Amino acid sequence: MLLQAHIWRRSKFYKKHYKDVSSILKNAKQLNFTQNTKIVFTWILDGASCIPNAMSVFPGLIAVNAEWAARLVLLDDEVVKMAFRFTMGHEMTHQSGDYVFLEAFTKDRKFVNWVNEVHSDYGGAQLAFNGNINNAITSIRYKAKDFKVDQDSQTHPSWKHREEYIKKGMFDDILIKRIAYNAGCSNKALIEKVCNHFAPIKLKED
Ligand SMILES: [Zn+2]
Repeated sequence: MLLQAHIWRRSKFYKKHYKDVSSILKNAKQLNFTQNTKIVFTWILDGASCIPNAMSVFPGLIAVNAEWAARLVLLDDEVVKMAFRFTMGHEMTHQSGDYVFLEAFTKDRKFVNWVNEVHSDYGGAQLAFNGNINNAITSIRYKAKDFKVDQDSQTHPSWKHREEYIKKGMFDDILIKRIAYNAGCSNKALIEKVCNHFAPIKLKED
């Protein structure tokens, strides 16, 4: 019900009428590219936030917030749908592909976090668009628009960095070393291990 309330409230903001909530969300939930992931729309993730957000809760379950539901229902927009597909691919890649590293709050951890994010952007492009780089760039730009302040953090590179990384078109050792440099990590043994963990991903223009 709270999900419905958020969609109703946002319909006033977007000045859009709507009726077909359940079939639109049912379609969205069918984007389980990896076949074994359940997608749930929930108000619990971050309440009435007006920034679309999704997260892997645990392997096999992705929670999507009410704002994503509202935009899918209210805005019949190809870029919104594209960015949603990309987000689902990104989260599914986290579920299967992350490098697991338990140290907290260090530059090494920051590097690993960033690599996992960028790898999930590449994996997301592969799952959602068969590797189409332009759709990935469009999706990242759409998601970036909601953030008034765009900055690097311990957990994520800035959107500006993520766009720069996806534009390389190739997730490989060269890109991983670039991320290490930007994240301030100089632990050669760790960088080597992370390079060995990930298979390269090449994106394409069409
Ligand atoms: Zn992520």
